[in-house]
Amino acid sequence: MRNVTIVGSGPAGLTAAIYAARANLQPLLFEGHEPGGQLTLTSTVENFPGFPDGILGPELMESMKLQALRFGTEIIQASVERADLSQRPLRLWSEDREYATRTLIIATGASANLLGLESEKRLLGHGVSTCATCDGFFFRGQEVAVVGGGDSALEEGIFLTRYARRVHLIHRRDKLRASKILQERALRNDKIQFHWNTILEEILDNGQGKVGGLRLRNTGNGSPPYDMPVDGIFVAIGHQPNTRIFQGQLELDEVGYVLTRGGSLTSVEGVFVAGDAHDSRYRQAITAAGSGCRAAIDAEKYLETLHER
Ligand code: NAP
Repeated sequence: MRNVTIVGSGPAGLTAAIYAARANLQPLLFEGHEPGGQLTLTSTVENFPGFPDGILGPELMESMKLQALRFGTEIIQASVERADLSQRPLRLWSEDREYATRTLIIATGASANLLGLESEKRLLGHGVSTCATCDGFFFRGQEVAVVGGGDSALEEGIFLTRYARRVHLIHRRDKLRASKILQERALRNDKIQFHWNTILEEILDNGQGKVGGLRLRNTGNGSPPYDMPVDGIFVAIGHQPNTRIFQGQLELDEVGYVLTRGGSLTSVEGVFVAGDAHDSRYRQAITAAGSGCRAAIDAEKYLETLHER
């Protein structure tokens, strides 16, 4: 029987583990299928406080893991496949073993939707990014593209004009899904060039393992594919929170983000949430880490109330 079980090993999960471990709760943490989370898909992180020269994403995550281990977190290198939140204690299953826990911290994160191109996967972190706030700074004076037509794509496109010489907005239709206000802002920004009815067919390598251009096809005029040089490409076609195993067991919004009831509390007693699994807005390592701290403190307070009952 565990006091605290954490599912997920990004900044949210590992920060929750550091706090729970330092509170002597001997947390158990399931790393999941992507140990370290989304930061392991990026190169340098320059906006995490405490690292004036930046730090590599995988290195930052390894340090957080060592810090969690140092205070007694037990880490299991596996995913949780099933959960039963209707019983007390809560129950989880992983690789045919059953685990019982008094509290659960869901820190399973979200995954950025990708186009599914082989070149996109290969060049992720080398000019392909899913986060303008994280990586925009690296493209000062350069030419970049954003794929998508929703709020994220326009917000990222507008943000990128602070750094980039030009931002190409590539959208598969001739109508944007984004809110009117963002549309107006993007359309009147003369650093943004829209490519309507355009599909990204391939991301081209510059010969040095980095993005050098895009192969595009205009579906509106039937013309053959053409190449456009760019230094970076931001894929902004939505995110999917990794909450499938909790569906039907606690309140999620229509996309699947966990709904909270103040702090990190969810609709199920003893179940807390941290990081991108409940956050479609900020999605930053530092906000995830902060909410991991919050979830651990909420779990600790809840455990105290169990003792008092
Ligand atoms: P979204 O609203 O689902 O938009 C995704 C966009 O990507 C759509 O334009 C879609 O094209 C395109 N897309 C999807 N799959 C594609 C593919 N395989 N190839 C090419 N294009 C593809 O996602 P989001 O922009 O991330 O926003 C998610 C939610 O967060 C929304 O509710 C949004 O309002 C909210 N949000 C709000 C703000 C804000 O208020 N400031 C900022 C960010 C996000 P189609 O249009 O053709 O379907």
